[in-house]
Formats: sequence, structure tokens, C-alpha cells
Amino acid sequence: MDKITFTIDDQKITADKNKTILEAALENGIYIPHLCYHSDLEPAGVCRLCMVDIERRGLTTSCNTPIEHGMVVRTETPEVQKVRKVAAELLVLNHPFDCLVCEKNTNCELQRIANFIGIDEEYLAKLRKPSRSLPIDTSNPFFIYDPNRCVLCGICIRTCREIVGVSNLDFVSRGYNSIVSTFGHEPMLESRCVSCGECVVHCPVGSLKPKETPLPSREVKTICPYCGVGCGIVLGVRGSRIVSSRGDTDNPINEGRLCVKGRFGHEFVNHPDRLTTPLINKNGKFVEASWDEALDLIAEKFSMYRGDQFAVLSSAKCTNEDNYVMQKFTRAVMGTNTIDHCARLCHAPSVAGLAQSFGSGAMTNSIEEIKDAQCIFAIGTNTTSAHPVLAYDIKEAVRKGAKLIVANPREIDLLEYADLFLQHRPGTDVALLMGMMRVIVDEKLHDVDFISKRCENFDTFKESLSDFDLDFVERITGVPHEKIVEAAVTYATHKPAMLFYAMGITQHTHGTDNVLATSNIALLTGNVGRPSSGVNPLRGQNNVQGACDLGALPNVYPGYQKVNLPQIHEKFEKAWNCTLSDVPGLTHTEIFDAILDGKIKVLYEMGENPALSEANAGHALKAFEHLEFFVVQDIFLTETAQYADVVLPAASYAEKDGTFTNTERRVQHVRKVIEPIGQSKPDWQIICEIAKRMKKSGFDFEQPSQIMDEIASLTPSYGGITYERLEVKGLQWPCPSITHEGTQFLHAEFFATATGKGKFMPLTYKPSFELPDDEYPLLLTTERSLYHFHTATMTRKGGLEILRDKELVEINPYDAQALGLKDGEIVKVISRRGEVESHIKVTDVSPKGVVSMTFHFAESPTNMLTSDAIDPIAKIPETKVCAVRIEKL
Ligand code: SF4
Ligand code: SF4
Ligand code: SF4
Repeated sequence: MDKITFTIDDQKITADKNKTILEAALENGIYIPHLCYHSDLEPAGVCRLCMVDIERRGLTTSCNTPIEHGMVVRTETPEVQKVRKVAAELLVLNHPFDCLVCEKNTNCELQRIANFIGIDEEYLAKLRKPSRSLPIDTSNPFFIYDPNRCVLCGICIRTCREIVGVSNLDFVSRGYNSIVSTFGHEPMLESRCVSCGECVVHCPVGSLKPKETPLPSREVKTICPYCGVGCGIVLGVRGSRIVSSRGDTDNPINEGRLCVKGRFGHEFVNHPDRLTTPLINKNGKFVEASWDEALDLIAEKFSMYRGDQFAVLSSAKCTNEDNYVMQKFTRAVMGTNTIDHCARLCHAPSVAGLAQSFGSGAMTNSIEEIKDAQCIFAIGTNTTSAHPVLAYDIKEAVRKGAKLIVANPREIDLLEYADLFLQHRPGTDVALLMGMMRVIVDEKLHDVDFISKRCENFDTFKESLSDFDLDFVERITGVPHEKIVEAAVTYATHKPAMLFYAMGITQHTHGTDNVLATSNIALLTGNVGRPSSGVNPLRGQNNVQGACDLGALPNVYPGYQKVNLPQIHEKFEKAWNCTLSDVPGLTHTEIFDAILDGKIKVLYEMGENPALSEANAGHALKAFEHLEFFVVQDIFLTETAQYADVVLPAASYAEKDGTFTNTERRVQHVRKVIEPIGQSKPDWQIICEIAKRMKKSGFDFEQPSQIMDEIASLTPSYGGITYERLEVKGLQWPCPSITHEGTQFLHAEFFATATGKGKFMPLTYKPSFELPDDEYPLLLTTERSLYHFHTATMTRKGGLEILRDKELVEINPYDAQALGLKDGEIVKVISRRGEVESHIKVTDVSPKGVVSMTFHFAESPTNMLTSDAIDPIAKIPETKVCAVRIEKL
């Protein structure tokens, strides 16, 4: 970057050419008073405190004046001092003087300014108006807004608009009566605020401040335990309690930004309901046991049932090291490949589909590339709810001029930023995408050069487009064909274009076809293998990518090395010094069938909650009762754990070292922040202790870094990963050697397929397995709430519960009226598999004929309703579509 040299107060300064005077000064250790400036925001230049004198130009605000070669800047002339003194006095004039009781005391920008400029208190006392006593908004569970302390700098307003993209705040009234207020002047809790806390972090005084403010005695950097974005957090600790969480400004993914869960969702760690000792079920009652007693019992029982009678459900919430050890235990100790985890329920089609077309089933590009995309196509992802910080980046790209196409059956928040909304019927993604591709080919907008050099199977694919004329596509999807044309042309002509999807694409009986349709459209337009492009599946849980990478799947060892390839099988037999099965194991859904068939008799489940998360959950509950021995390892006594014979208390993410791999393939260091609660232990350690009691070698790890060393030695894509190398910003796989710097985007020169080419896949339209009929006339689709995570085991243990405390069946006003239902009523939702009670919410967000529920609430277990019909390739159940009816209670 070009440098510019100029002087401030006779001191020569060199800075990057795009800097302002204030930025250059601060970078060089020169303080210029400022209040409305914040390095995360566009400069506003309204507080007038940062005034400087520029030779031959005069007084100007330094926060929004770019530096120039040879510029001569003075910060302490009499004119400058006079102007900023007046500005400071106006700010301090009616501000409360009770600094000692304000949480921001000693950390307040206003104090710093007053001290620096020097305020004449006697003079101010004469001008002072009676103190304001405006009502303080305490409605939010995590922070308060005290307008009496507000200095009207506008930072919170710009933060909410520029960083979060919610625009909930603005100034209201004028002059002395001016205050900051929410959209619609609602209390914060009832406003459109998403409780991210960004405005609180940015407020320079004590106006917006956290409700609980015990200062931490120490802080530790780690990774957020919630979604797959993988934001860096800094946890504050007082004694053995986690008391705060702030965004890690050094983390390349979030650069200090967080969503509500990452900032405020840490209360579960020290919650009194944490499991603290092993429990053994004796005659229907859990009895506390010693570790020796529990582990001896497990080792004895497991020894009786090795091979195909045994199954494991591993966990996308646990670390890579936990998952590696669990799959090694399953294969090397128990002699079976029957291990799976909840990726089967969310992104198995991504692994299966993208492996066919690109040779690798992961997000092709990186989060930091979003800001430079010219087009963003978000299909089947409610990004602001499920991946909030990544949604901040999408909104930023749009502000910078990118086109945003949103395709979703329901109206989602991201629509506020969209150029184009395609509201297709649930389950019709293949038709929509193939229709768009037909337009692209008919209009000759496809990338002929990219296709001829880098792809194969184009002609066969092109023939399959003939089934998708726009009349047919419009009839199937419900999207007017002009919109399909506009979307196709926009996506094909604004390059680079990034495509994002989540479970709206995958959770279908044709989920793999849906994924293939996304890879087809990216290949067709040459939007793969370059920055800010690609096909980007957004992984749901914090470590679902890592649990897949590390072989918690029934057909592959770590690194997607197939269990039935002789050379791979031999490699692992040699490394682990044991005999291994080369028969792929059963998948998640097949495990429950096999339990009910009496084939699987023992289940070892770590950190998941299938009692609530399994499609057709009643089937899973029956299966639990059929088991001869059931071990659950978790941090709480979950709905699933209540069926167990032995429950083992696991340490949470904050109590152990390890790594998570986020949605963009970045392996990051998770650090131990506090000692394990009670007698709980890290998952990997518990598994090793069971293996050792079963007299097996290869489980003598003392530190998780040793596990990572073994992972690197056996997993080509993790070959260059060590804990030392993860310290700064993690590493994105593939990282095959110790000198490799990781891979920001995939397929730059070759695809990972056998031929090195990207493979087009011909597709046909297949309807969903169970569509509405006379008996069950509504289509139920499933969703996620911003405020909860998965089965809410962690998020319902604190203030997040106040933000969303119950299940809501969202129903269109037309359907509600037809059924005589009113907002807030309790109804019964019935499918062919079960029934649940829930409150209803009447909203236009749901289209006619479609109702939506989350699966976060045990009191209304939505998955008792959903269908376990599966995709034949990826074996994922169709939780996005089933037929229900609603009855008034
Ligand atoms: S609440 Fe804080 S950030 Fe917002 S305008 Fe007032 S002082 Fe500035
Ligand atoms: S908490 Fe977040 S969404 Fe709410 S007002 Fe502040 S910045 Fe806006
Ligand atoms: S976006 Fe995801 S990873 Fe980031 S803070 Fe929120 S929940 Fe945590």
C-alpha cells in the first residue's frame, strides 16, 4: 500500500494513503480528542472534538479528512483549543457527575476528553440545567439503556446500522430533548433489536451498558461453542466462574463482532444443573457413582457386545480430538464402523453431493471473501438466525454494491437487503435452480471457456435442462418466470458470485440432488476456483465440519479416507496396530432401525440429543427402550440421557483444550478457560479411560495436542496442523505439510475429483416424500431461532430464555382465519407420526399453506411430527417437509 508522509505538531508521520488524519495520529501514538469516531465505523464528524488546524486550510475535523503528502497539521492552536473546549463543555454540561457509581468509570471516553481538555466546573455549574431523569430501559435481559448518560455521539446508531444491519436505533426529538430511541419507540426487548450487544460494546460512555458487570480477574481467548461460523471470543473469568464474553478482535472471522449467543450465551457453563458425577440407573433411578464404578461397568458391558451389536453417536459440539478418539475407539476397540453424528441430519448431502461434483464436500471459499463478492445467492439459509455474524458480512457486501438474491419459502430477515426474492415452495429447489440454469444456457450466459477447460459431462447435463421449461418451473415452484429470468441473469453476470446454502437445501429426500444443482450452477457460470465465488454450505454446529473431517462417519476414516479401500484399511490397521473392519457401518437413521430390529444392542452417545433432534423422534425414543445397554456422555441430563443406563459427566468447551473446524475449514484452537466443573472430564479422556480398562493400547494420550499430532500423521488434509501453528488465526485445510499455509479457497487449478475436472450432474425434479392432502392439509417446515441452538440444552440455561421461551407454530393469517385460530392460542399439531401442543403465531412470514416450527423446546418436541423418509444417497431425513393438520384445543 502506498505511504504518505506529513507532519502533526512538527512530528513527521508516515501512514497508509487511505488513512484519515485522526487514524494516522492514533496509529502513531498521538491523541486527538474524539467521541463520535470509532475505528469500526464510517466517520461521522459530528462531535467536533477532533478539530485540527491544517496549514493553509484552517480548522477541520480530523476524523473524516484524508491525509495528503506534505500536509502540516497542528492539534493545539488557540483556535483548535477554543472550538473543542466549547464542544466538550456542551457534552459535559448536562451529563451526570456521579462517575464513581457508573460502570464505565475509568473506562469512559467522556472522562478522558474532560481530563485532556480541562473543564471549568464552576463555569459549567452556572449553565447547568436540572438533571434529566428520563426512564431507563431495562427490558433487555443483558443490557440497559440510560438516556440520562447519553452524549448523543450516534455511535450506537451507526453500529446497529453499519455492523449489524438491523437499524433499530435513531435520534428522536431535537435540542435538549434529543435522545436515542428504538425503531417504533418500543422498549428494547419489544423492538426489532436482536440483542447482539454491539451497541453496548461501542458506546463510549455509561449509557448503554451490560446489566451484570463483574470485572473479570483474567481473560482467555477461545472459540464460540455455537454455530459453524466459529467466531473468536475472549472469556472473562472471576474465580471459577465465567462472567463475560467479548469478541476477539484478532480473530479473522469475526474481528471482534459477535451475535447474541456468542456474547451472552455463556451462562450454561456454570449452571447448577451441570452434571458433576457419573450416574448409574438402578431400578429406574439415577444413583451417583464413582468414576471407577461407572467406567468398570461400561468396560465390562462393552466387552460383551463388540462388533455389529455396538453403535456410536458422536458429536458436532465436541472437539476434533474428542471425535478422533471416539471414532478410533469405535473402530479399533469395538470392531465396527457404525459411528455417525448429527451431520447426517444436516449436511450429509453436502458431503455426498459436492464430493461427486467437486471431489470435496466442504465450503469452497472463505468468510473474509464475502465483502468482495459482486453477487450473493442465499438459498435455503436463514442466515441472520443461524449464522448471524456471517450475515453481517453479507449485509456489508450489499452496502458496498453486491447484488443479493434470496431464495426461501419463508420471508426471512435477509430480505431487507435483497435485490430479488424468490419465494419458492418448500422442496422445489432443483426445479428453481435448473430453471435458472436453463435461462443461463438459453441466453448464452454460461462460461464456455471455464466449462471446456475445467469441467466434464456438460452435454449430458445440458440435455437434462430440457425438462425445465419456465412454465413447468413456475408451476412447480410458484415463482413467476420473470423473476427466475432476472435471478439467472443477475447471478450469471455479476461475477464473482458466492452461493450460500444451509439446511433448506439439504434436509430433503432429494437433498443430494439439491446440492448437485447448486454445484451445477456455479460450474455453469465459472464461479468456482476463484476468490469470492463458489458453493458454500453453511455448517450448523460449531464443529460439524470437524466431526466429519475426523471420521465420525460410518464409511470413512479421518480425512474422508474410505474404510473399504484396501490401502486405506491397511494404513489404519498398521498405525493403530489392530484388526479393523472394512465394512461401512450404519448411518444415524439406520442405527435406530437396527436397534428396533434387535441387531444393535448397545449405544454409546456423546454430546447429542436425538430424543429431540432425530426426525420422527418417537421412533428414536422406542429404540432407546429396546437397548440392552445405553451410555450417554454429556454436560447436562438431557432428554436423551434420561433413557441411559450410565450417564457420564463431560467437561464443556470452556473446560478443555482442543480444536474446532469452522464452516470455512478453519481449524482453530479451543482453550481451557476454567477447571472442569465437579468431577466432569474432557470427552477424549473419558473414552481413553474406557479403552484402557478394556486393555487396549493406543489411548495413552496425555494432552489433546498429542491427539492432533496423530491426526496430522494419518489425515492428509490436516498433515501440516500443529497446535503451535494454530495460535494466530488457525489454519484452513487442506494444509498438507508443516510449511503449507492452508487453503483459502478450493479448486483453484484442479478439482479434487479423479479426473481433476468439475463434474456436471444431470438432474430430474422429484417431489418431496410427504405432501399435504385432505387429511393433513398443511406443509410443516422446520426453522431455527436466533436465540437458541440445536435442542437448546445450552441456550435455555440463562437470559436467552427470556428472548424466546416457547415453541411457536408460525402460520399465515389466511390459514389461521380458515381454521378460526388467533395469535397466541395453544393448538395441537398432528402428523402421521405424532402430535404436539404449541402456541401459534399468526404471521405473513409463512406463506399460505405452510407452517413452521423450531425444534428447540422439549415441551413441544417438533420432531415427533417430522418425517424420517431419507435421501437414498446421503441418508438424511426430510425434516424440511412433512404434512400436518392443526386442531384448536
Ligand atoms: S447511547 Fe452511547 S453510543 Fe449511543 S448516542 Fe448515546 S452515548 Fe453515543
Ligand atoms: S443490541 Fe444490536 S440489534 Fe440491538 S440495538 Fe444494539 S446493535 Fe442494534
Ligand atoms: S455467529 Fe455463530 S460463532 Fe459467531 S458468535 Fe454467533 S453463534 Fe457464535
